[in-house]
Amino acid sequence: MDYELSDAHKLIRDAARRIAREKVAPRAAELDESGEYPQDIFGVFAEAGLLGLTIPEQYGGSGAGFLALALAVEETAKHDNACSLILLLAALSTQPINLGGSDQQKREWLAKSATGAIKGAFCLTEPNTGSDAANLESRARRDGDDYVIDGEKVFISGGSVADYVCFFAKTAEDGASAISGFIVPTNSPGYSVPRCDRKMGVMGVPTANIVLQDCRVSAANRIGDEGRGFRTAMLTLNTCRPVVGARGLGLAEGCIAYALDYARERKTFGVPLVDHQAIQFMLADAAIEIEASRHLVYHAATLVDQGKYDRQHAPYLSMAKTMATEMANRVASNAIQILGAQGYMKDHPLERHYRDARQLMIVEGTSQIQRLVIARAMIQGEINYW
Ligand SMILES: Cc1cc2nc3c(=O)[nH]c(=O)nc-3n(C[C@H](O)[C@H](O)[C@H](O)COP(=O)(O)OP(=O)(O)OC[C@H]3O[C@@H](n4cnc5c(N)ncnc54)[C@H](O)[C@@H]3O)c2cc1C
Repeated sequence: MDYELSDAHKLIRDAARRIAREKVAPRAAELDESGEYPQDIFGVFAEAGLLGLTIPEQYGGSGAGFLALALAVEETAKHDNACSLILLLAALSTQPINLGGSDQQKREWLAKSATGAIKGAFCLTEPNTGSDAANLESRARRDGDDYVIDGEKVFISGGSVADYVCFFAKTAEDGASAISGFIVPTNSPGYSVPRCDRKMGVMGVPTANIVLQDCRVSAANRIGDEGRGFRTAMLTLNTCRPVVGARGLGLAEGCIAYALDYARERKTFGVPLVDHQAIQFMLADAAIEIEASRHLVYHAATLVDQGKYDRQHAPYLSMAKTMATEMANRVASNAIQILGAQGYMKDHPLERHYRDARQLMIVEGTSQIQRLVIARAMIQGEINYW
């Protein structure tokens, strides 16, 4: 598998790196404190073309792809995970339309998303169904040229700042094949955001409850045929898994780079921390895990760019997500350890990174669910190491 970065990829990575250093890093601590959504940084991303990386050129994006997005997310996550989530959401909210929508829907919703004129959110999780999303309970009932949707979604990233959501609901009785996807403008009558969650990290992007009550949307807003919604949702998540991994990868890099800088300066027992072998081993272990994760993430993103994100390739996308996000948690923890008490304090960014890292093992399919995907492929012989 060839995943050397092209010149175009390097340009995007370098642009994202510059924005991350100049615009994101100075705001990160304040966003964490205030919990405010950084509309200005969203604007900077839009201006740099970073919101349309996974949107095809014919629909107003650059079509640069998922490896390009992973690189931009990685650079951003070195400084702030909330801002890296803003980039990820640009793909997560548009992929259902990109993968399952009509030409008309793509022209209407993708073009405006690529420029940052509008932003979306992805509504799958419900109070009674997270991992087992196929059993979701929201309902959409056909009524003439419309659907009337009722249901509640929870933990929706960016739900309270979105202009539209991709909402999954049942249009028939039971099973995954009963689920359909809908583009729901957030100014639709019957759409409400009763509350945002009080949470542990990634404070700059709100996580919201979304309730649809007798919410009427045109049948033209259904994404693909009735019953295709679950497949669209799963393929959307598959394509975005390497990008969640990139959030972990960048976070780990930011943590260990910070800890190394500190360890060069801080002295104990008369020598800099970097002279202690125990510290050196933590640094080296971090670098080993970061590089291993980088290969998995870039490889997985390249698979997605090659159109390989169906069931057959899903285990490799799951591996990248699991490895990079769990690695991020270990590296963030060890980076704090290298700073000692200082690492625990808000004077340094590591405690924020540590809190932010925790959600990565839960969102878009928990580590356990990724392992189910991988193990199933092994047991069924699709991954065969003989
Ligand atoms: C900050 C944040 C942002 C989020 N953003 C979004 C969003 O934008 N859109 C959206 O739709 N959702 C979003 N989610 C929801 C997220 O996708 C779900 O939390 C996730 O899918 C897990 O579902 P759950 O929390 O209901 O856990 P549950 O499904 O209740 O699982 C609880 C625990 O049991 C484990 N488990 C469950 N089933 C099995 C099994 N069969 N075998 C082994 N272990 C199992 C899980 O791994 C987990 O550890 C977000 C969540 C968070 C925390």
